[in-house]
Amino acid sequence: MLILAASVSSLAVVYLHSVKAREEAAAPNENVGPVTQAPVVPEKPAPVENTQPPAAPPPASKPVAVPASPTQAAQNRPAENRQVPNPGVPVAALPAGGITERPAPSKGDLVFVIDDVGYNLRDLEPFLKFSGPLTLAVLPGLSFSAEAARRIRAAGKEVFLHQPMEAVGGQDPGPGAIRTGMSREEIRALVNRNLDEIWPVAGINNHEGSRITQDEDAMETILALCRERGILFLDSRTTAETAAPKAARLLGMSIGERDVFVDNVQDRESMIGYINTGLARAGRNGSAIMIGHVWSRGLAPLLSEMYPGLREQGYTLVPASTVIGGTKQ
Ligand SMILES: [Zn+2]
Repeated sequence: MLILAASVSSLAVVYLHSVKAREEAAAPNENVGPVTQAPVVPEKPAPVENTQPPAAPPPASKPVAVPASPTQAAQNRPAENRQVPNPGVPVAALPAGGITERPAPSKGDLVFVIDDVGYNLRDLEPFLKFSGPLTLAVLPGLSFSAEAARRIRAAGKEVFLHQPMEAVGGQDPGPGAIRTGMSREEIRALVNRNLDEIWPVAGINNHEGSRITQDEDAMETILALCRERGILFLDSRTTAETAAPKAARLLGMSIGERDVFVDNVQDRESMIGYINTGLARAGRNGSAIMIGHVWSRGLAPLLSEMYPGLREQGYTLVPASTVIGGTKQ
């Protein structure tokens, strides 16, 4: 209950902060950060050109405010192309005329990967309308796989192949899945076919796969194919026993690893809590990769609602390819 209250409070703080900054054109209070379950290690030092003293910290105890409804927030949301000062721009370079807003120090890169695209176009649409960068992972062999990939690219978002792989539980991962017992050549032919269906893509991440990702030989085959085709691999980490990091080391490749699933529980407060966990990770590590699902009804509106506040706090949304290293030369 305490955690839930903290999450609700956090959203309210982010939201209220966002409104306050717009209404007053005041300097964002960069110390109004997310309330998270884990302590947040101090972020990178502020840029040297930022010579103004830090804003006062929030009061130690804040009343738990009821967050605004998504509708209200949407009405108050700034236009999608609203310009926010680049964190690297010195204060002196900002236009004159009483603007006191100053750039927040960078708190890290946030990646949102939206999985399980391809069953329909209806669920995809709200994510395509999201004004920031997103990576959308498309399942192969479905009625709308190819069309979804085309629309994602047309919307300026990044496409990954969401490669189905066998899970420990034995559930059906769907068409085009890598299964135990397949030869290297069978895996290569299958993944190549899946890639070609929705090509061009920036990378692959696994759908399910708690059994296959434990198979070092299979993961080496997949990673080697990624390198051949010049694309990235993101380990969704559906098992702690994943062999993907070891296979990557053997091949001298860098892969991405999922930090947080943002919709394991899909109610609004839970998703806010998961995202706040991701923010804390980004604060510690410089970036965080968060995975959600296209069928999570409240996720696209929540991301749109939180996006302006995240930017004002100094987070940068980027596509997955920005933080995944690829091949080390
Ligand atoms: Zn999936």
